[in-house]
Amino acid sequence: MLFPTQFDVIVVGGGHAGTEAALASARMGQTTLLLTHNIETLGQMSCNPSIGGIGKGHLVKEVDAMGGAMAIATDEAGIQFRILNSSKGPAVRATRAQADRILYKQAIRSRLENQPNLWLFQQAVDDLMVEGDRVIGAVTQAGIKFAGRAVVLTAGTFLDGKIHVGLNNYSAGRAGDPPAISLSARLKELKLPQGRLKTGTPPRIDGRSIDFSVLEEQPGDLDPIPVFSVMGNVGMHPAQMPCWITHTNTQTHDIIRAGLDRSPMYTGVIEGVGPRYCPSIEDKIHRFSGKDSHQIYLEPEGLTTNEFYPNGISTSLPFDVQLALVRSMRGMENAHILRPGYAIEYDYFDPRGLKSSLETRQIQGLFFAGQINGTTGYEEAAAQGMLAGLNAALQTQGRDSWTPRRDEAYLGVLVDDLITQGVQEPYRMFTSRAEYRLSLREDNADLRLTEIGRQLGCVGDAQWEMFEKKREAVSREMVRLKSTWVNPRILADAEAERVLGKAIEREYNLVDLLRRPNVTYDSLMTMTGTEGQALAGPGVTDDPVREQIEIQIKYAGYIDRQAKEIGRQEHNESMKLPADLDYMDVKALSIEVRQKLNKHKPETLGQASRISGVTPAALSLLLVHLKKGG
Ligand code: FAD
Repeated sequence: MLFPTQFDVIVVGGGHAGTEAALASARMGQTTLLLTHNIETLGQMSCNPSIGGIGKGHLVKEVDAMGGAMAIATDEAGIQFRILNSSKGPAVRATRAQADRILYKQAIRSRLENQPNLWLFQQAVDDLMVEGDRVIGAVTQAGIKFAGRAVVLTAGTFLDGKIHVGLNNYSAGRAGDPPAISLSARLKELKLPQGRLKTGTPPRIDGRSIDFSVLEEQPGDLDPIPVFSVMGNVGMHPAQMPCWITHTNTQTHDIIRAGLDRSPMYTGVIEGVGPRYCPSIEDKIHRFSGKDSHQIYLEPEGLTTNEFYPNGISTSLPFDVQLALVRSMRGMENAHILRPGYAIEYDYFDPRGLKSSLETRQIQGLFFAGQINGTTGYEEAAAQGMLAGLNAALQTQGRDSWTPRRDEAYLGVLVDDLITQGVQEPYRMFTSRAEYRLSLREDNADLRLTEIGRQLGCVGDAQWEMFEKKREAVSREMVRLKSTWVNPRILADAEAERVLGKAIEREYNLVDLLRRPNVTYDSLMTMTGTEGQALAGPGVTDDPVREQIEIQIKYAGYIDRQAKEIGRQEHNESMKLPADLDYMDVKALSIEVRQKLNKHKPETLGQASRISGVTPAALSLLLVHLKKGG
């Protein structure tokens, strides 16, 4: 049976990638269908109940800057917020929130249900309809056919998923959910390049069985409580809760070592490669054998549950070992495990088979986003989902695709890393992956992306108006600071010392004064003249505007230098390479480089430069070939 409607875009999977993809496409006015196993699990957090962190928070802010849902849903669901690296430079400061799982799912689901142009349908997708080299729809388990002009596949860990607890294993998409076996087989039939990866999760603990009185409490930031979305505010946050800290010890490590002979990882039962930066506890004990203790955060899963997530002990050891290792830790002596930890192996697709729009090279109109591309993490999934959804929408509108460059967004870094380097292990974002991180800050995500988001059609009116007001306020205040001069005649030495640290010997404008170390925008605004008159203030009161002004002025030297460097690289970076170029004809290149370029078909010279083995010398030879009209 063919469902009566022809959709512009069909999204398969209602996780973090799928929900952002569906919302982006629908915001852009395309009729969009979100097909997922179970409507109850829309926006479900498979693992840790937290959003953001270093590098990841940057991605969430970028999704938010383009009208996405993750940040605002976190504002509605967050039960603890912190700014990480708050004492460091603005480039590496990052927002992280502990989320109430139930509230988070509600926040996402309500956005999906109320989004114009978006239809939801609960059913497993077992097949894709492909005509020639173009996808034309999807078929569900019950044989219902949905026609679509583009399909975004975001199947997460579900493709041929296999769960391991000790030496027992069974097929599943994640605990409690079915795997996607038929779809996995269909994708294999289509011969899309693929591999196997693995991830894991810790056992969950009943909070009533934890002795919090012996644990260290870790509260969130309270003054002020951070906010994730540009459209969010503290009033949206539910009640706030602390986390708790315990540690593994030598006894814990002995228990783990003694259980390794029944570990699926150490007995070779698991073949997929796991996440290096989120390793299982057995992996940590093995890799850091000299360490006799690891810090474990006990994170509340929500306001209406006693469940706790022990961050740091992801494991696939047998259940009896899990119980013993949990109970060996301080405060956990009587812990009751609510759900066992487990590892899951799943199919992923080699992202080098994707264009920068996240469309597969092999099948037109078929886009991949999220864990299926070899990444790990909700934030990485959401960012790709939004990009794939908007590019699917653009394609069905007959418009050019859009992908930010590496100097424009972490999203650009993520996609470029994936499509040029592929993955050898689950990929997660870090600030260290971005060479232009001083320009890619959380605080300026909106200034970098909201305007393009608006042009593409995925930023709504309310967000756009708010953005324009902020941008205008920043530039108006900058002009005022530059044109307000302070003369030593009207500034008493004592007042200069109070605000600036020392007297001034000549006239300065407020930008010069704010550039001085230890002078903050707020302190500057309190500066008064010899007659008691305000010399700089009152200034602006809006926090994001003040923050932006302070950062732009204080870091101007570094930011300008980076902008010049970006300018120097830009020509080569964005130079397009002909899609039909047969690199075998570029005889000056080595066979290895020709084969690699033919395999990956980079879209730009910048992308080509990041393919392993493509040296600067090879790029020069390629340029000569292109200049000759080759
Ligand atoms: P998912 O969130 O997995 O969503 C996939 C969606 O697609 C689901 O709604 C599913 O029902 C649906 N679906 C799949 N196949 C079909 C089909 N055929 N038809 C219809 N619907 C379908 N991330 C970390 O950052 N750190 C960790 O430590 C970590 N550990 C993890 C441990 C486990 C056990 C699991 C399962 C995941 C873990 N993750 C971790 C990963 C994190 O959950 C994912 O990165 C993130 O959820 C990926 O989002 P996604 O949208 O790509 O996929």
